[in-house]
Formats: sequence, structure tokens, C-alpha cells
Amino acid sequence: MDNEGKRDSVSRRGFLGVGSAGLAAAVGVLSAGGAAAQSQTPGDRSRTDPGPANSGLDAQNADSAWPPATDSKSLIPVFKYPFSLANKRTYTGGWSREVTVREMPVSKSLAGVNMRLTAGGVRELHWHTAGEWAIMLYGAARITAIDADGKSFVADTKKYDLWFFPSGIPHSIQGLEPDGAEFMLVFDDGNFSESETVLLSDSMAHLPPEVLSRNLGITEQALRSFPRQELFIFQTAVPGSLEADQRVAAGALGKSPHDFAFKTMDMPVTKRTKGGEVRIVDSSNFKVSTTAMAMVTLHPGGLRELHWHPNASEWQYYIAGKGRMTVVATGNKARTMDFQAGDVGYVEKTLLHYVENTGDTDLVFLEVFASSIFQDISLTEWLTHTPPELVMAHLNIDRATMDAIQKEKLVVLPG
Ligand code: MN
Ligand code: MN
Repeated sequence: MDNEGKRDSVSRRGFLGVGSAGLAAAVGVLSAGGAAAQSQTPGDRSRTDPGPANSGLDAQNADSAWPPATDSKSLIPVFKYPFSLANKRTYTGGWSREVTVREMPVSKSLAGVNMRLTAGGVRELHWHTAGEWAIMLYGAARITAIDADGKSFVADTKKYDLWFFPSGIPHSIQGLEPDGAEFMLVFDDGNFSESETVLLSDSMAHLPPEVLSRNLGITEQALRSFPRQELFIFQTAVPGSLEADQRVAAGALGKSPHDFAFKTMDMPVTKRTKGGEVRIVDSSNFKVSTTAMAMVTLHPGGLRELHWHPNASEWQYYIAGKGRMTVVATGNKARTMDFQAGDVGYVEKTLLHYVENTGDTDLVFLEVFASSIFQDISLTEWLTHTPPELVMAHLNIDRATMDAIQKEKLVVLPG
């Protein structure tokens, strides 16, 4: 398709939704998609975009290029940021990139850092003020920490395993064989930055040698081999067996009784319907975590039902597939945006939203909350657990329509 054709061809859903693709194509009419496809006079050129355009980005963002007619003309702030636009900090041993409130101003309560470590590559020993929730996306890594009693924790993590390091708990991450790891870190502070953490190397370089020497019980001579600058990520040898590392690190104090890691794929699915499935992990099953997650899989056509979260804002990460989300905000504002693998989305606390699979493969995404507990309120559950006469009067519907409204909270609806 040439650029002109691509930019003039509005929403695929507009065409599919109203079932008039043939007619629309025949007369060159460009409908606005969604529920209220606007009819246009043949020859009307209103919905063309003949000027300069980035056709690749437009194609990925069809609901921004030609919004559904139900979107408001005064918009809520942008709630999407692709990791593709985040600058990688590259090192021998891996890289990192981040999406914070600086990249996406709406994301005040959570920030994301995407990191890659080679086999043996280390995210150096460090800590920070924000709590760190993480999910492994590829490969395997060994994580280490000590708890508030000084007791050691060492574990190996694989794809979709989680970890959580509370504020101030020191830790490290190291890629394992055969090809290291890639993971997503989510911090419970939108202002977080990976460049603002307390690093072992950097701390040591900023202490008077006579104090450090006395504190560590080693000679000032020995301090001379310490790095002068931060390491952040560096390459070293792949670690030995997990058991050996656990034993040596525990020493006389013993291992920490706290489990800072969680095996997501070992838990039973929280909810499964014909539309897909959801795994919910919060402090009720992952005790140390004060960050909650729902991992959602939507089959083609599936819909994460209309809902909102009364207790926290939602930080999203799209792992696979394509989808779209409409967020309805206060003041009669609404906006629809499109998402695909690698994108971050954000929904402010209490705002109504859905996520729809618009691709032909499974859509997999995360809903992450800076809250110990996952909570969501389903629109249909609200409507069907309110006196029906009241709802009928609001929506101007008859009893038969009222009775037909979905009563069970399905979470994910089939296509
Ligand atoms: Mn960290
Ligand atoms: Mn949600």
C-alpha cells in the first residue's frame, strides 16, 4: 500500500465493526471506527492526511491517527511510551534503559527499567530507596540479597519468575548460562532512575581510605585495586553451583527465612475463560512483595473486561501481541491508544478502561500496581449488583436488556 492509501485508510475496526468495508472502500469513505462510525458524503475529503507523515508509526497507532468517534476531542495525557524510544546505557556485560515519569509524565507512581545481562554479566551490588519488583522475560539469572537481619538470600530465576527487593535491601543480579537474561524491573516511584542508585563501587570510591581501611580491616595498600568509578554493569565469570553460593553466603547466620523470589508459572491460573487467562500475584501469595501484578493472556479477539482499580494506578508492559485500550477519565475525557510488544501503558487510579486483543495471536501483558493487594471493580458486576430499576432508568433499557447483561465477573471475555 502506498503512503497515501495507508494514511487514508482509517480504522480496520471501523470497517470490520460496521460490516461495510466493501461500501466504504468503493466510495472512498473513511469511517472513524468503533461504535459510532460517522457517515460521510461521497467526495468528502475531511478524513484524509495528505501532508508529511511517519507512516510506520501511524500504522502502529491507528487509534491515534483516526480515533474512534467515542474519544473526546480534549484528551487525557498520553499513557503510552514504547521502550524503543528509551536510550540504552550499554556496557560490556549488558545494557539497561528506563521509562520513568520523565518519559511519560502521567506515570507518577511507577517506573520501569528493562535490562539485559550476558552470561556472567552482573548488575553490580547496590540498593535504592524504591522497592524493586521484577519479572524475568528471557533466560536465567542469579539474584542475591541480604534481609534486614543480615541473613543471606541467593536464588536462580527463569522466564516469568518474579523477585521483590524492598526499599534499602541490598542486592545483585547476574546472567547465567547459556545466554544470560533479560528482565523488567518496576519501581514503586515514577521518579526512580537506575542512575540514582547506591552502588558498591561508587560508595567505596567516595570514602576516605583510612576510614575504609579501618572499617573493613584491610590495609590501605589493598584498597588501591578498588575501582575508581562505578561499575553498574560489568562482565565477570559465570557463577558456580547455586547450592555452593547459598551455603557460603549464609555463613554462620544461616539463610534468610524470607523468599524474595516467586515462580509465577508454578502457581495455578487465577482465572481462565474462553477469552484467555489471568495470574494474579500480590502479597497474599508472594509475602514479601508490596507490588501487585496481574499477568493477562488474551486470545485473538479477547477482551480484558471494562474495569477500574480503586486502590492504585496501573503500570502496564506489553510482552506479546497487539492490543488497544481506551481510558475514560474525569471531565468527560477519553482516549484510545494502540499497544504492542515492548510498549509501556499507564492507567491512573480509578479510571475506567478495557484492553482488547486486536491482533491474530495471543496478547500477553502485565498490570503492575504499587500496592500490596490487587483490586479491580468490574463494570458488569457493578451494573448487575445494583437495584435493576435504577440501572434501567440510567441506561434507558428494558427488562430484557437488563437481564441479558453479563452477571459474572469474567475478567477476560472471549472474542
Ligand atoms: Mn535494584
Ligand atoms: Mn486494569
